[in-house]
Amino acid sequence: MSKGALFVISGPSGTGKGTVCAELLKTEDLFLSVSATTRDRRTGETDGITYHFTTVEQFKDMIVNGMMLEWAVYNDNYYGTPRQSVEKMLEEGKDVILEIEPQGALKVKEMLPEAVLIFIVPPSMRELKKRLTERGREDMDQIIKRLDAAKWEFEQAFKYNHIIVNDDLEDCVGQIKGIIAKRKQDNAFIYQLLNENY
Ligand code: 5GP
Repeated sequence: MSKGALFVISGPSGTGKGTVCAELLKTEDLFLSVSATTRDRRTGETDGITYHFTTVEQFKDMIVNGMMLEWAVYNDNYYGTPRQSVEKMLEEGKDVILEIEPQGALKVKEMLPEAVLIFIVPPSMRELKKRLTERGREDMDQIIKRLDAAKWEFEQAFKYNHIIVNDDLEDCVGQIKGIIAKRKQDNAFIYQLLNENY
């Protein structure tokens, strides 16, 4: 049996990666890993679905006990991918998607080089600023901080397998679906070769 494929999606705040993942899940047979975080729950978020919301103490215990596949500090909060569910899905041949920031994504790539890293970028810095402003979640000071942070994230994009511009959502999602389909096909074929007698 073939192992599942692992896809990792990153992109600075405001690039629309959450919407992209939601679109992918509508049609693709993928398991979206639910991360753990110590940040406060926002309106409309559900514990166990959006995130596993934990205390800092609980999060640190999970790190010490080896329960995190990767973790990172982002905006003064801990975020991490629970190891067990992801490994179980991959072992069972199911394809998994992680929506995580670059520090964590690059740790995943180090541990699991077969992971496919996809970085989503906005069409321009102006457009990114416009999207963050229109979202209305942060004040201008915070938006400027996010735009500064985005520049560090863009530098990490070179380490990813694919860079996709999210100008038109449908086009962006279409390109990622193509990447997923190709990797699924490659995965199945390589495992078939590995299991063949000669
Ligand atoms: P937010 O607080 O807006 O939900 O997420 C902030 C950032 O944390 C986003 O870039 C998101 O992709 C990232 N993130 C969410 N879950 C994880 C995780 O498990 N690990 C890492 N490294 N980053 C995560």
